[in-house]
Amino acid sequence: MLSRFLKQHTGPLTRDLVQEPGHFGLGKVPSRLMPSSTTTSICGYCATGCQLKIHLDENGNAINLSPQAGYPVNLGMACPKGWQALDPLDSPDRATMPLLRDESGKLVETDWTTAMDVFTDRFKKIQAEHGRESVAFLSTGQIPFEEMAFLGCLFKFGMGFLHCDANTRQCMATAVTAYKQSFGFDAPPATYADFEESDVIVLIGANLCIAHPILWQRVMRNPRNPKIIVIDPRATETAQAATQHVSLKPKGDLALLYALAHCVLRDGRVDAESLARTEGIEAFADFLKDYSPAAMAEKTGLTVEAIEALALAVSEPGKRVSWWWTMGVNQSHEGVRTAQAIINLCLMTGNIGKPGTGPNSITGQCNAMGSRLFSNTTSLVGGHDFSDSAHREKVASLLEIPLETIPSDYSMAYDEILAAAESGKIKGLWIVATNPFHSWIDSGRLAALREKLEFLVVQDMYHTTESAQAADLVLPAAGWGEKDGCFINSERRIGTLKTVRKAPGQALSDFRIFRLIAHAWGCDEMFAKWTNPEAAFKLLRNLTKDRPCDITGIEDYEMIDRMGGIQWPFSEGMGDPNPIISNLRSRRLFEDGIYYTPSGKAKFLFSPPAAMPEPPDFEFPFLMLTGRGTSSQWHTQTRTAKSDILKKLYPENVYLEIHPADARQYRLKEGDAVTVRSRRGELTAAVYLAPTVQRGQIFIPMHYPEVNKLTHSAFDPHSRQPNYKACAVALVRAGR
Ligand code: SF4
Repeated sequence: MLSRFLKQHTGPLTRDLVQEPGHFGLGKVPSRLMPSSTTTSICGYCATGCQLKIHLDENGNAINLSPQAGYPVNLGMACPKGWQALDPLDSPDRATMPLLRDESGKLVETDWTTAMDVFTDRFKKIQAEHGRESVAFLSTGQIPFEEMAFLGCLFKFGMGFLHCDANTRQCMATAVTAYKQSFGFDAPPATYADFEESDVIVLIGANLCIAHPILWQRVMRNPRNPKIIVIDPRATETAQAATQHVSLKPKGDLALLYALAHCVLRDGRVDAESLARTEGIEAFADFLKDYSPAAMAEKTGLTVEAIEALALAVSEPGKRVSWWWTMGVNQSHEGVRTAQAIINLCLMTGNIGKPGTGPNSITGQCNAMGSRLFSNTTSLVGGHDFSDSAHREKVASLLEIPLETIPSDYSMAYDEILAAAESGKIKGLWIVATNPFHSWIDSGRLAALREKLEFLVVQDMYHTTESAQAADLVLPAAGWGEKDGCFINSERRIGTLKTVRKAPGQALSDFRIFRLIAHAWGCDEMFAKWTNPEAAFKLLRNLTKDRPCDITGIEDYEMIDRMGGIQWPFSEGMGDPNPIISNLRSRRLFEDGIYYTPSGKAKFLFSPPAAMPEPPDFEFPFLMLTGRGTSSQWHTQTRTAKSDILKKLYPENVYLEIHPADARQYRLKEGDAVTVRSRRGELTAAVYLAPTVQRGQIFIPMHYPEVNKLTHSAFDPHSRQPNYKACAVALVRAGR
């Protein structure tokens, strides 16, 4: 049956699976790649969303790349990861065939027909015995949103399951929740041009220089001689390059932001026009009475004078102040309230909806923003709500699927899914393009959890990831450069990626794997119109009508390329045939002062700071901070470690940064091996002396597999985002 389906849709079985129709390098080059010897693609690493110019050989095969000069995001620049974006495709550990664990426990090659039979038989059996809540998927912010949407719709509407989430939970769930609650929709207001139009740029929990280096270049282009303030416990690369570093205590950020708001209100440095477009200021003002600089000095580790001076700097009348945050805020036990404290300050001072302003989150992954609108995990696909019956009816009608297939209840969050797997409630798990056995907080738990699962499927480019090695079934997937689709970057700009290489062996794009699964499951009629990524894009586009993220004005992929990417919203009628003269090239939200709440007003939201989940103590006297190591490393290094050039740009093995005075006290010198122990596990790292770290703290880059064996499972109560940034550890000289 499956073989017949494959033949009907794609030609002879073997040929089809190796050679995707219409895909590049198979004798048929997509017409929009011809006759040029270059094409463009959005970089597949971070959420900056740089466009790369891909240089092609005479067969349309990518041979090299360079940054695209005219693209309004990167303006001809790229970081090391972007320059080396093709390298990971050639790695010898690519998954090229489906792999199935045999009776001896080995993963052995199989064919797609068998793989699909096993996939459906095992998951259907679990579903029949244990119901729709017994299987979950965990996916990613790294695949095009057409694929995300296909997966989310297939799993919930077609296969009839409920629980799913993505590694975007680790990245920006906090920002999503903060914006939704404050503005009525998940609406990051920024445009990158705001970096160049601010008088004061506040970077909080954001190490732009190495995490988003092209955005730092945008800061450097600002002609207004801006004051650049970095709020961070460490003297990061960005803090060292800034005009001011506010070196606060870890997790002192929420207290500091409330103290700043206290000063702004006390001194009457508020913007009346902006306040008129809000609700809740009276209650917030009452709350702030307890947050004077004197009351917050100890909690923040700052002097009263330093807090007062910072309050003046971020509220100076007539100055454009923009706030930008990333994981230092998002990955916190109280990230949502911290993000909302930033939003509150912008609302109070009128720094929103104008050039050079905004409470602006910068996302981590290349398509985290696509996941926010289209993954069908926490929100109903297209920026809708599962609990809203009108939304469900609209989606059912436009996707031409039975209304009853759309659940009205919500999925569990990532941590809840894993806890349910630990308790035996979830018995089957499907992991797509992510590696939680390395990346999840307190990752040692995953090994025990694996034993509880009846069936684990991992769909990935590589068969060597920690997660793939734990799987019962591995489905080989194409990677960036081997498929089409769209990403959305941090300024809400939609850009396209292209197929410029053939996936190796029998690896398939995730989109085509989902088509195979839909057929094998018996629900392919429901997805008859999802024939290819661009067809899916048009279905998804139509779904956004009348939502804040309306993109019904986008005709097709070609229009996106022609206009240099398109920021949402872009409703019908907004199109400008001449992008060179169009001010649509760069837009921010809320210029009209109207928010997406029922009242049209933004909300002040706040609550008292909570205690740090695991502070240092006698037994574990150091606080371990984690973060990005270098601009050449990406997350679990699944791809960046495949590049010989990138590997030369960072230390191969795990290291820790420690203040020289602390190192002396422990008789440690540069290069010594030291064991770092937490209540959950330990690792051995090389010592790197760094006065940039405060005393009593160490910093370890997140990229090494040992690191999350130590981190502590604590979560923001609103967003369920993990608190990766702070846990208590002890140091022991290795060998003792
Ligand atoms: Fe790619 Fe981000 Fe580097 Fe740009 S800054 S080239 S999007 S990794």
